[in-house]
Amino acid sequence: MNLILLGAPGAGKGTQAEVICAAKGIPAISTGNILREAVKNGTESGLKAKKYMDAGELVPDEVVIGILKDRISEPDCKDGFILDGFPRTVPQAEALESMGVRIDRVVEIYVPDEKIAKRLGGRRVCEACGNSYHVDYKPTKVEGVCDACGGRVVTRKDDEPATVLERLRVYHEKTAPLKDFYEARGKLKTVVGQEAVEDTTRLMLAALE
Ligand code: AMP
Repeated sequence: MNLILLGAPGAGKGTQAEVICAAKGIPAISTGNILREAVKNGTESGLKAKKYMDAGELVPDEVVIGILKDRISEPDCKDGFILDGFPRTVPQAEALESMGVRIDRVVEIYVPDEKIAKRLGGRRVCEACGNSYHVDYKPTKVEGVCDACGGRVVTRKDDEPATVLERLRVYHEKTAPLKDFYEARGKLKTVVGQEAVEDTTRLMLAALE
């Protein structure tokens, strides 16, 4: 099954992608995580991407499409995958189609902007393994230390308040039109993001039936 998770930054796509990955046994692919890793390793695409990411802008389509194409051609994707954070523009969605990638379902997680701003402000991530936490909803057992690997847990640069507003603006301008794109193809389902992760998961799994 090939799935796309759509939604504003901070709507919970990453968390839900991991849950579905465990439930369905298909990999969750986050272009944001791949790009952050590339920045950390100082690769060519990382160097190109960093200034856009820090400003809350989208990385140019050709960079991201190349990364995604390489990733989905890896063997673990042969029975399907979950895309978290791709496509984010209509040209990216068109690129998937022209690669001949069949999409079975697109699930939008809807969370209003005011809630997004609160969620992202409290979000913390592990510098070492990328695990995600929240100061109120999913705190680490020891403050500032990752439960999974013991790495340092920090605020992402693009989760700072001014950058969050810019990311939301970009989402509405560039990514939200994908709802119409996939609606027209009969693929879109919308789930309202709930306070408790498990409640959203229940709705997500029902949307995938
Ligand atoms: P995310 O972790 O999904 O919020 O992604 C973090 C940042 O990576 C975004 O704000 C963009 O700068 C960049 N990024 C991730 N995925 C894409 C994409 N599909 N297209 C363009 N930029 C992306």
